Amino acid sequence: MFESLADRLNGVFDSLRGRGALQEDDVRAAMREVRIALLEADVALPVVRRFIDKVTEQAVGQQVLRSVTPGQQVIKIVNDALVEMLGGGDEDASRLDLDAKPPVVIMMVGLQGSGKTTSTAKIAKRLREKEGKKVLMASLDVNRPAAQEQLAVLGQQADVATLPIVAGQQPVEIANRALQAARLQSFDVLMLDTAGRLHVDEALMAEMKAVASVAVPREVLLVVDALSGQDAVNVAQSFTGEVPLTGVVLTRMDGDARGGATLSMRAVTGKPIKFAGTGEKLDAIEEFHAVRVANRILG
Ligand code: GDP
Repeated sequence: MFESLADRLNGVFDSLRGRGALQEDDVRAAMREVRIALLEADVALPVVRRFIDKVTEQAVGQQVLRSVTPGQQVIKIVNDALVEMLGGGDEDASRLDLDAKPPVVIMMVGLQGSGKTTSTAKIAKRLREKEGKKVLMASLDVNRPAAQEQLAVLGQQADVATLPIVAGQQPVEIANRALQAARLQSFDVLMLDTAGRLHVDEALMAEMKAVASVAVPREVLLVVDALSGQDAVNVAQSFTGEVPLTGVVLTRMDGDARGGATLSMRAVTGKPIKFAGTGEKLDAIEEFHAVRVANRILG
Protein backbone atom coordinates (compact mmCIF):
# COMPACT_ATOMS: atom_id res chain seq x y z
CA MET A 1 0.00 0.00 0.00
CA PHE A 2 1.33 3.46 -0.97
CA GLU A 3 4.79 2.05 -1.70
CA SER A 4 5.76 4.48 -4.44
CA LEU A 5 4.72 7.54 -2.42
CA ALA A 6 6.41 6.18 0.70
CA ASP A 7 9.65 5.59 -1.22
CA ARG A 8 9.65 9.10 -2.63
CA LEU A 9 8.96 10.80 0.68
CA ASN A 10 11.47 8.71 2.56
CA GLY A 11 14.07 9.68 -0.01
CA VAL A 12 13.40 13.35 0.74
CA PHE A 13 13.44 12.79 4.47
CA ASP A 14 16.64 10.78 4.46
CA SER A 15 18.40 13.85 3.16
CA LEU A 16 16.91 15.96 5.99
CA ARG A 17 17.26 13.50 8.80
CA GLY A 18 20.99 13.42 9.22
CA ARG A 19 21.49 17.17 9.06
CA GLY A 20 22.55 19.02 12.17
CA ALA A 21 21.66 22.41 10.72
CA LEU A 22 19.06 23.51 8.19
CA GLN A 23 18.56 26.74 6.32
CA GLU A 24 15.24 28.03 5.06
CA ASP A 25 16.38 27.19 1.53
CA ASP A 26 16.95 23.54 2.49
CA VAL A 27 13.39 23.30 3.78
CA ARG A 28 11.98 24.96 0.68
CA ALA A 29 13.94 22.58 -1.56
CA ALA A 30 12.65 19.58 0.42
CA MET A 31 9.08 20.87 0.15
CA ARG A 32 9.44 21.16 -3.61
CA GLU A 33 10.34 17.46 -3.63
CA VAL A 34 7.39 16.61 -1.37
CA ARG A 35 5.12 18.57 -3.70
CA ILE A 36 6.28 16.55 -6.71
CA ALA A 37 5.88 13.29 -4.77
CA LEU A 38 2.28 14.16 -3.85
CA LEU A 39 1.40 15.22 -7.39
CA GLU A 40 2.91 12.02 -8.79
CA ALA A 41 0.80 10.13 -6.26
CA ASP A 42 -2.23 11.76 -7.93
CA VAL A 43 -3.26 13.91 -4.96
CA ALA A 44 -5.60 16.74 -6.02
CA LEU A 45 -3.70 19.93 -6.84
CA PRO A 46 -5.53 22.29 -4.41
CA VAL A 47 -4.98 19.76 -1.62
CA VAL A 48 -1.26 19.60 -2.42
CA ARG A 49 -0.99 23.40 -2.48
CA ARG A 50 -2.68 23.82 0.87
CA PHE A 51 -0.55 21.08 2.37
CA ILE A 52 2.76 22.49 1.13
CA ASP A 53 1.89 26.07 2.16
CA LYS A 54 0.94 25.00 5.64
CA VAL A 55 3.93 22.75 6.19
CA THR A 56 6.38 25.29 4.77
CA GLU A 57 5.00 28.06 6.96
CA GLN A 58 5.49 25.97 10.08
CA ALA A 59 8.81 24.43 9.06
CA VAL A 60 10.72 27.59 8.18
CA GLY A 61 10.03 29.05 11.63
CA GLN A 62 13.19 29.95 13.53
CA GLN A 63 12.28 27.66 16.41
CA VAL A 64 12.43 24.71 14.08
CA LEU A 65 15.56 25.74 12.20
CA ARG A 66 17.46 26.59 15.36
CA SER A 67 16.48 23.44 17.18
CA VAL A 68 18.95 20.62 17.84
CA THR A 69 17.27 18.28 15.36
CA PRO A 70 15.74 20.47 12.66
CA GLY A 71 15.40 17.61 10.15
CA GLN A 72 13.39 15.54 12.61
CA GLN A 73 11.19 18.50 13.42
CA VAL A 74 10.39 19.14 9.77
CA ILE A 75 9.53 15.46 9.31
CA LYS A 76 7.22 15.64 12.32
CA ILE A 77 5.47 18.68 10.88
CA VAL A 78 4.92 16.81 7.60
CA ASN A 79 3.65 13.77 9.50
CA ASP A 80 1.16 15.82 11.52
CA ALA A 81 -0.10 17.59 8.40
CA LEU A 82 -0.52 14.23 6.66
CA VAL A 83 -2.56 12.88 9.58
CA GLU A 84 -4.74 15.97 9.43
CA MET A 85 -5.16 15.62 5.66
CA LEU A 86 -6.42 12.07 6.22
CA GLY A 87 -9.02 13.32 8.70
CA GLY A 88 -6.95 12.55 11.78
CA GLY A 89 -8.15 15.34 14.02
CA ASP A 90 -11.56 13.75 13.99
CA GLU A 91 -11.28 10.02 14.77
CA ASP A 92 -14.91 9.95 15.93
CA ALA A 93 -16.11 10.94 12.47
CA SER A 94 -14.45 7.89 10.95
CA ARG A 95 -16.31 5.50 13.24
CA LEU A 96 -19.56 3.89 12.13
CA ASP A 97 -22.52 5.55 13.85
CA LEU A 98 -25.12 2.97 14.86
CA ASP A 99 -26.56 5.05 17.64
CA ALA A 100 -30.24 4.90 16.68
CA LYS A 101 -33.31 2.79 17.28
CA PRO A 102 -32.88 -0.63 15.63
CA PRO A 103 -33.00 -1.64 12.89
CA VAL A 104 -30.27 0.90 12.13
CA VAL A 105 -30.05 1.31 8.37
CA ILE A 106 -26.73 1.51 6.51
CA MET A 107 -27.11 2.38 2.85
CA MET A 108 -24.26 1.50 0.51
CA VAL A 109 -23.96 3.56 -2.68
CA GLY A 110 -21.46 3.77 -5.51
CA LEU A 111 -20.69 2.95 -9.11
CA GLN A 112 -20.79 -0.54 -10.58
CA GLY A 113 -17.58 -2.44 -10.02
CA SER A 114 -16.41 -0.23 -7.15
CA GLY A 115 -16.66 -3.14 -4.70
CA LYS A 116 -20.00 -2.14 -3.18
CA THR A 117 -21.52 -5.60 -2.80
CA THR A 118 -18.31 -7.10 -1.42
CA SER A 119 -17.94 -4.20 1.03
CA THR A 120 -21.54 -4.62 2.18
CA ALA A 121 -20.85 -8.25 3.09
CA LYS A 122 -17.47 -7.38 4.66
CA ILE A 123 -18.98 -4.72 6.93
CA ALA A 124 -21.95 -6.96 7.81
CA LYS A 125 -19.59 -9.79 8.78
CA ARG A 126 -17.51 -7.42 10.87
CA LEU A 127 -20.54 -6.09 12.71
CA ARG A 128 -21.66 -9.63 13.47
CA GLU A 129 -18.26 -10.88 14.59
CA LYS A 130 -16.84 -7.84 16.39
CA GLU A 131 -19.96 -6.21 17.75
CA GLY A 132 -22.35 -9.15 18.02
CA LYS A 133 -24.92 -7.42 15.83
CA LYS A 134 -27.74 -9.25 14.15
CA VAL A 135 -27.48 -8.01 10.58
CA LEU A 136 -29.81 -8.32 7.60
CA MET A 137 -28.55 -7.48 4.10
CA ALA A 138 -30.76 -6.68 1.11
CA SER A 139 -29.75 -6.02 -2.48
CA LEU A 140 -31.75 -3.30 -4.22
CA ASP A 141 -29.87 -3.79 -7.47
CA VAL A 142 -32.50 -4.77 -10.00
CA ASN A 143 -30.42 -3.65 -13.00
CA ARG A 144 -27.44 -5.95 -12.95
CA PRO A 145 -28.40 -9.56 -13.58
CA ALA A 146 -27.60 -11.81 -10.61
CA ALA A 147 -26.69 -8.90 -8.29
CA GLN A 148 -29.21 -10.07 -5.69
CA GLU A 149 -27.96 -13.65 -5.96
CA GLN A 150 -24.36 -12.43 -5.54
CA LEU A 151 -25.27 -10.82 -2.22
CA ALA A 152 -27.07 -14.01 -1.12
CA VAL A 153 -23.93 -16.06 -1.84
CA LEU A 154 -21.74 -13.59 0.06
CA GLY A 155 -24.28 -13.69 2.91
CA GLN A 156 -23.86 -17.45 3.17
CA GLN A 157 -20.08 -17.11 3.21
CA ALA A 158 -20.25 -14.38 5.85
CA ASP A 159 -22.95 -16.12 7.85
CA VAL A 160 -25.15 -13.06 7.56
CA ALA A 161 -28.86 -13.18 6.68
CA THR A 162 -30.07 -11.80 3.36
CA LEU A 163 -33.58 -10.76 2.43
CA PRO A 164 -35.30 -13.46 0.32
CA ILE A 165 -35.40 -12.45 -3.35
CA VAL A 166 -38.79 -11.62 -4.86
CA ALA A 167 -38.61 -11.28 -8.64
CA GLY A 168 -40.00 -8.13 -10.24
CA GLN A 169 -39.86 -5.78 -7.24
CA GLN A 170 -38.47 -2.27 -7.58
CA PRO A 171 -35.76 -0.82 -5.25
CA VAL A 172 -38.12 1.20 -3.04
CA GLU A 173 -40.44 -1.82 -2.65
CA ILE A 174 -37.50 -4.01 -1.71
CA ALA A 175 -36.32 -1.40 0.79
CA ASN A 176 -39.75 -1.31 2.40
CA ARG A 177 -39.91 -5.09 2.55
CA ALA A 178 -36.43 -5.23 4.05
CA LEU A 179 -37.37 -2.68 6.73
CA GLN A 180 -40.47 -4.63 7.61
CA ALA A 181 -38.54 -7.91 7.83
CA ALA A 182 -35.81 -6.28 9.92
CA ARG A 183 -38.38 -4.89 12.36
CA LEU A 184 -40.40 -8.10 12.63
CA GLN A 185 -37.34 -10.28 13.12
CA SER A 186 -35.57 -7.84 15.48
CA PHE A 187 -32.46 -7.24 13.42
CA ASP A 188 -30.06 -4.66 14.87
CA VAL A 189 -28.74 -3.46 11.53
CA LEU A 190 -30.14 -3.44 8.00
CA MET A 191 -27.63 -3.02 5.19
CA LEU A 192 -29.00 -1.91 1.83
CA ASP A 193 -26.78 -2.63 -1.15
CA THR A 194 -28.08 -0.22 -3.79
CA ALA A 195 -27.70 -0.41 -7.56
CA GLY A 196 -24.62 0.96 -9.26
CA ARG A 197 -24.21 2.37 -12.76
CA LEU A 198 -21.16 2.77 -14.94
CA HIS A 199 -21.40 6.54 -14.56
CA VAL A 200 -23.10 8.96 -12.23
CA ASP A 201 -26.43 9.87 -13.83
CA GLU A 202 -29.73 11.45 -12.89
CA ALA A 203 -31.64 8.19 -12.81
CA LEU A 204 -29.15 6.75 -10.32
CA MET A 205 -29.36 9.81 -8.08
CA ALA A 206 -33.18 9.82 -8.22
CA GLU A 207 -33.21 6.17 -7.17
CA MET A 208 -30.76 6.80 -4.30
CA LYS A 209 -32.88 9.71 -3.05
CA ALA A 210 -36.10 7.68 -3.23
CA VAL A 211 -34.52 4.81 -1.29
CA ALA A 212 -33.00 7.18 1.29
CA SER A 213 -36.35 8.85 1.88
CA VAL A 214 -38.09 5.58 2.77
CA ALA A 215 -35.19 3.87 4.55
CA VAL A 216 -33.96 6.91 6.55
CA PRO A 217 -30.40 5.57 6.79
CA ARG A 218 -28.17 6.41 9.75
CA GLU A 219 -25.15 5.89 7.53
CA VAL A 220 -24.87 6.41 3.78
CA LEU A 221 -21.50 5.01 2.75
CA LEU A 222 -20.08 5.75 -0.66
CA VAL A 223 -17.90 2.95 -2.00
CA VAL A 224 -15.11 4.04 -4.35
CA ASP A 225 -12.16 2.30 -5.90
CA ALA A 226 -8.90 3.76 -4.55
CA LEU A 227 -7.10 2.63 -7.71
CA SER A 228 -9.16 5.04 -9.79
CA GLY A 229 -7.32 7.97 -8.15
CA GLN A 230 -8.86 11.37 -8.86
CA ASP A 231 -11.85 9.70 -10.54
CA ALA A 232 -12.76 8.32 -7.13
CA VAL A 233 -12.67 11.83 -5.72
CA ASN A 234 -14.78 13.15 -8.62
CA VAL A 235 -17.36 10.41 -8.07
CA ALA A 236 -17.47 11.31 -4.39
CA GLN A 237 -18.01 14.97 -5.27
CA SER A 238 -20.88 14.05 -7.61
CA PHE A 239 -22.63 12.08 -4.91
CA THR A 240 -22.08 14.71 -2.22
CA GLY A 241 -24.99 17.07 -2.21
CA GLU A 242 -27.25 14.60 -4.03
CA VAL A 243 -27.46 12.01 -1.27
CA PRO A 244 -26.67 12.64 2.39
CA LEU A 245 -23.33 10.82 2.49
CA THR A 246 -21.91 10.12 5.94
CA GLY A 247 -18.67 8.51 4.87
CA VAL A 248 -16.54 6.78 2.30
CA VAL A 249 -15.32 3.20 1.89
CA LEU A 250 -12.13 3.04 -0.18
CA THR A 251 -11.68 -0.35 -1.82
CA ARG A 252 -8.62 -1.95 -3.44
CA MET A 253 -6.24 -0.16 -1.10
CA ASP A 254 -4.20 -3.37 -1.27
CA GLY A 255 -3.23 -2.57 -4.86
CA ASP A 256 -2.80 1.17 -4.48
CA ALA A 257 0.87 2.17 -4.58
CA ARG A 258 0.12 5.86 -5.05
CA GLY A 259 -2.49 6.91 -2.49
CA GLY A 260 -3.94 9.90 -4.37
CA ALA A 261 -7.60 9.09 -3.71
CA THR A 262 -6.98 8.38 -0.05
CA LEU A 263 -5.03 11.58 0.50
CA SER A 264 -7.45 13.86 -1.36
CA MET A 265 -10.78 12.37 -0.32
CA ARG A 266 -11.29 14.05 3.04
CA ALA A 267 -10.12 17.50 1.97
CA VAL A 268 -12.07 17.56 -1.30
CA THR A 269 -15.35 16.02 -0.12
CA GLY A 270 -15.36 16.85 3.59
CA LYS A 271 -16.46 13.26 4.21
CA PRO A 272 -14.54 10.92 6.50
CA ILE A 273 -13.07 7.69 5.16
CA LYS A 274 -14.62 5.02 7.38
CA PHE A 275 -13.26 1.78 5.96
CA ALA A 276 -10.46 0.56 3.73
CA GLY A 277 -10.89 -2.57 1.62
CA THR A 278 -7.64 -4.49 1.49
CA GLY A 279 -8.39 -7.60 -0.59
CA GLU A 280 -11.06 -9.83 -2.09
CA LYS A 281 -11.69 -11.97 0.99
CA LEU A 282 -14.53 -11.08 3.32
CA ASP A 283 -12.15 -10.35 6.19
CA ALA A 284 -10.10 -7.94 4.07
CA ILE A 285 -11.45 -4.70 5.48
CA GLU A 286 -10.06 -2.33 8.09
CA GLU A 287 -11.43 0.63 9.97
CA PHE A 288 -9.68 3.68 8.64
CA HIS A 289 -7.20 5.23 11.07
CA ALA A 290 -5.44 8.36 9.84
CA VAL A 291 -2.44 7.94 12.14
CA ARG A 292 -1.81 4.37 11.01
CA VAL A 293 -2.10 5.25 7.35
CA ALA A 294 0.26 8.22 7.78
CA ASN A 295 2.72 5.88 9.49
CA ARG A 296 2.54 3.52 6.54
CA ILE A 297 3.38 6.38 4.22
CA LEU A 298 6.20 7.84 6.28
CA GLY A 299 7.44 4.56 7.73
P1 GDP B 1 -19.93 -3.81 -7.14
O1 GDP B 1 -20.31 -3.90 -8.59
O2 GDP B 1 -19.58 -2.41 -6.76
O3 GDP B 1 -20.93 -4.41 -6.21
O4 GDP B 1 -18.54 -4.61 -7.01
P2 GDP B 1 -18.22 -6.03 -6.37
O5 GDP B 1 -18.44 -6.00 -4.90
O6 GDP B 1 -18.91 -7.09 -7.15
O7 GDP B 1 -16.64 -6.10 -6.58
C1 GDP B 1 -16.03 -6.13 -7.84
C2 GDP B 1 -14.71 -6.89 -7.74
O8 GDP B 1 -13.79 -6.19 -6.92
C3 GDP B 1 -14.85 -8.27 -7.12
O9 GDP B 1 -14.06 -9.18 -7.85
C4 GDP B 1 -14.30 -8.09 -5.70
O10 GDP B 1 -13.76 -9.28 -5.18
C5 GDP B 1 -13.25 -7.04 -5.93
N1 GDP B 1 -12.96 -6.25 -4.71
C6 GDP B 1 -13.84 -5.58 -3.92
N2 GDP B 1 -13.20 -4.96 -2.92
C7 GDP B 1 -11.88 -5.23 -3.05
C8 GDP B 1 -10.69 -4.83 -2.32
O11 GDP B 1 -10.71 -4.11 -1.33
N3 GDP B 1 -9.49 -5.32 -2.80
C9 GDP B 1 -9.42 -6.12 -3.92
N4 GDP B 1 -8.22 -6.53 -4.31
N5 GDP B 1 -10.51 -6.48 -4.62
C10 GDP B 1 -11.73 -6.06 -4.21
